[in-house]
Amino acid sequence: MPGTSRMPVSLRESFNSVRRSRPGTANPLHALSLDLVRNIVFFLFLVRWTRRVFWKLKGRGLLGTVAELYRDIRRVLYGYFLRMPGVRTQVRKQVDEAVAKLEIKMVPADRTRYLTLPKEPWSEDAIRKELDALANMDHTRWEDGYVSGAVYHGEDDLIRLQTEAYGKFTVANPIHPDVFPGVRKMEAEVVSMVLALFNAPPGAAGASTSGGTDSILLACLAARQKAAAERGVTEPEMIIPETAHTAFRKAAEYFKIKLHVVACPAPTYQVDVRRVSRLINSNTVLLVGSAPNFPHGIIDDISALSKLALRRHIPLHVDCCLGSFLVPFLAAAGFPTVPFDFRLRGVTSISCDTHKYGFAPKGNSTILYRSAALRAHQYFIDPSWSGGVYASPGMSGSRPGALIAACWASLMAVGEPGYLAATTALVGAARALADRIRDHPPLAAELEVLGTPLVSVLAFRARSLNVYDVADAMAAKGWHLNALQNPPAIHVAVTMPVAKAWERLAADLEAVVEAEREKERARAVAGKKSRGEAVGDSAALYGVAGSLPNKSVVVDLARGFLDLCYKA
Ligand SMILES: *Cc1c(COP(=O)(O)O)cnc(C)c1O
Repeated sequence: MPGTSRMPVSLRESFNSVRRSRPGTANPLHALSLDLVRNIVFFLFLVRWTRRVFWKLKGRGLLGTVAELYRDIRRVLYGYFLRMPGVRTQVRKQVDEAVAKLEIKMVPADRTRYLTLPKEPWSEDAIRKELDALANMDHTRWEDGYVSGAVYHGEDDLIRLQTEAYGKFTVANPIHPDVFPGVRKMEAEVVSMVLALFNAPPGAAGASTSGGTDSILLACLAARQKAAAERGVTEPEMIIPETAHTAFRKAAEYFKIKLHVVACPAPTYQVDVRRVSRLINSNTVLLVGSAPNFPHGIIDDISALSKLALRRHIPLHVDCCLGSFLVPFLAAAGFPTVPFDFRLRGVTSISCDTHKYGFAPKGNSTILYRSAALRAHQYFIDPSWSGGVYASPGMSGSRPGALIAACWASLMAVGEPGYLAATTALVGAARALADRIRDHPPLAAELEVLGTPLVSVLAFRARSLNVYDVADAMAAKGWHLNALQNPPAIHVAVTMPVAKAWERLAADLEAVVEAEREKERARAVAGKKSRGEAVGDSAALYGVAGSLPNKSVVVDLARGFLDLCYKA
């Protein structure tokens, strides 16, 4: 701390001033100590705020700081506006209407609802029949490749094997390794296989978790605990690319880590490493890069982040949740690739989702650490609980051994050749789709692929159309693509089902772009500025509500959506 050396001077001065100003005080020692305490408190306060202002200006620059302040003020003022009596009721009414519309779609009223336990148990046949009906409820057809992401494999053979593995371990819980030794063995082996895939050095360690978010939360927690234990950091900060998965923002909120979000500007859409560097200070506990990120499928410059992390002695997490089992196979499949794993010495932890391109059933992911010592920072151990000495590796207590068995079975069944073939097929399809958008006249004229995606996800934006209208028109044709914001765009995550359907996707996209451009032309001829026809869901959500300086209306809508998920 630069200010520490000045402390004695300040103390001496306060001592002298007390002596000078109060020569005849009855109890000089008393006055002295009071003054002293006041001075020390004030001094610490000053150091703390000077340091904060300095870090802020260094991290964001003067212009950036002013811009941030301006945005904050606008957000707060707009928040007040939204809460004004007349405005508030109007907003409430519109949000309620939107949620009511959503309810009609999400919670169809034509089915019998079972809200309490049956008075008589159902027969197995009755349950089977109802389960079939539930599985066949009207849904977006992932089976035919209409859904971006979501179901990464979905072939019958693998599902059958997974179900069998699950069935053998339905009651298993790895919290009791003596009762279910087979599950302990499989779990350790899954972690070992993933460590090997990411070229982990000797001494590396990992854990399995319930999903990517879980893995990321644990990586952030471990980094925070490590900094607290080794450097006494009590006000932890973390620096993430703005395209990093929102699980990092969740971790910041849950674990009280101050978050710095760094821009990922065009044309590469990779995180700006120089800006990351400027934001580092003595409270920084973790840097983050994605390989690739969810929105644009872009791999950050992990080599540069690794160098920075090494130079500043700060842990670096690589989020490979999405890249999972594809990124490690890019080179072998003959595609261009970049360094992303433990071979970069600055990389200290990696999250990899076995339940994405590892093709395991949902509820499986792994978190890998360069050392077992780092992993120990995510452990929770309570030696004094009245329930006995308690130790758990992560956030859950009891965990489903059945899912671990199904994960292990998936990895063993697909094996190296299977993942290599999947990489060839999926990345091949994503690249073909990207090429079609870049080179094929009807699409190339209107759409633009963001950056240079190397894996299975590509995002594109529209040049003259409202891209959310394109998303809504694609939805009307049965496609479930992902709408993105900042900048407005759409992405497609190519999965096994999508890989089989990508040409149909490209053809529909062409038709939609043509139709939307035709509509634009008609509108221009009619001289209408505002749009007469109904606005689609994405356009409504990201168009008006999304562009407001304060997104509390969007938050209200999202809360309504979550409530609906639990409406029986
Ligand atoms: C899917 C994903 C995650 C986390 O996913 P879960 O839904 O929690 O499994 C994290 N990072 C990226 C880049 C992802 O795509």
